[in-house]
Amino acid sequence: MHSSIRLGRIFGIEVGLHYSWLLIALLITLSLTTQFQETHKNWSGELVWTTALMTALLFFATLLAHELSHALVARSRGLTTRAITLFALGGVAQIEKEPQDPKSEFWVGIAGPIASVVIGALALGLCYAAGWRLSATPQTPLITMLVWLGYINLLLAAFNLIPGFPLDGGRVLRAVIWWITKDGTRATELAARVGQFVALCFIAVGIFRFFGGAGLGGLWIAFIGWFLMQAAGSSYAQVRLSAELRNVRVSDVMTRDCVTVDGNLNVQTFVEEHLLRSGKRCFVVEQNGQILGIVTPHEIKNLERPRWPFTTLHDIMRPLDALHTVSPSTPVMEALETMGRDDVNQLPVVNGNHLDGIITRANVLQFLQTRAELSR
Ligand SMILES: [Zn+2]
Repeated sequence: MHSSIRLGRIFGIEVGLHYSWLLIALLITLSLTTQFQETHKNWSGELVWTTALMTALLFFATLLAHELSHALVARSRGLTTRAITLFALGGVAQIEKEPQDPKSEFWVGIAGPIASVVIGALALGLCYAAGWRLSATPQTPLITMLVWLGYINLLLAAFNLIPGFPLDGGRVLRAVIWWITKDGTRATELAARVGQFVALCFIAVGIFRFFGGAGLGGLWIAFIGWFLMQAAGSSYAQVRLSAELRNVRVSDVMTRDCVTVDGNLNVQTFVEEHLLRSGKRCFVVEQNGQILGIVTPHEIKNLERPRWPFTTLHDIMRPLDALHTVSPSTPVMEALETMGRDDVNQLPVVNGNHLDGIITRANVLQFLQTRAELSR
């Protein structure tokens, strides 16, 4: 999830807001305002708005607590979390690697719902201690706020425990199947199937309710279903990919015969004599016998054509020290993760001080295709 507003770091983990969250925050505040106005006719407009806004902000904090508990349990099991992003349908903790054993998967998955249940129970417990009873309408702004937060967190835990991968419940289900069958790939397949089934149910119920007169509420349920469907598919693909590439190293797929070009060459000549003729996509820029960077069609695309004769490769290359490098023994999965993080399609492969070659996304794709053909 890219386009997001950075909020800062907590426990060393980057926290961001996706723009879609702002829309939901607005909707939540508005609907809370309407709700509070109806239940508390004696409250001033100002009090209603302040309470609604505070409730929405605290809801945000509890969502963050849910994601943080996933991240912290992951950390205790040796998995780092790159970032936490809150978006329209909740939050997502981007854990860098898939857990390597069912026990880790189980605890990382269940940690979030546990946090939400604890928060929900605490909030409602506090209200109960202050004299509020289950079916009663809370009176003071503080109790009103806590009751809503209590219920919403319990609801959040329940929703996340739906056993459809990649929801938390789906991860827990996957961990259990994995533990029983000892087969991680099979567990993923089954959990993803259940996830798709749950998603279909959401879509069906949503459409049914929409035509039954539930209006936007029905469409919203169908939309969540559609989202779950996408997520189940892509999570499955991701897990399958990391299983296929488990023992593959950069040296198994990299391109070794990178073409070396002189940094003083202008872009026009380079395109005519090297890029178009060789059909290669990766070029190493060298000057006075030293490797300075790499040039790909991507860098050239960003330069206006009239300037080609007057610009040298040295001007447009990606300098080596600005790029992350990998070594021949780096696992391919890790190289792919680095490319994703840096938003590039290739990485230089460096062995000591020597440039051994380049690994590109295309290399990995080709490797997977060849392997699929051979196993048929
Ligand atoms: Zn969760």
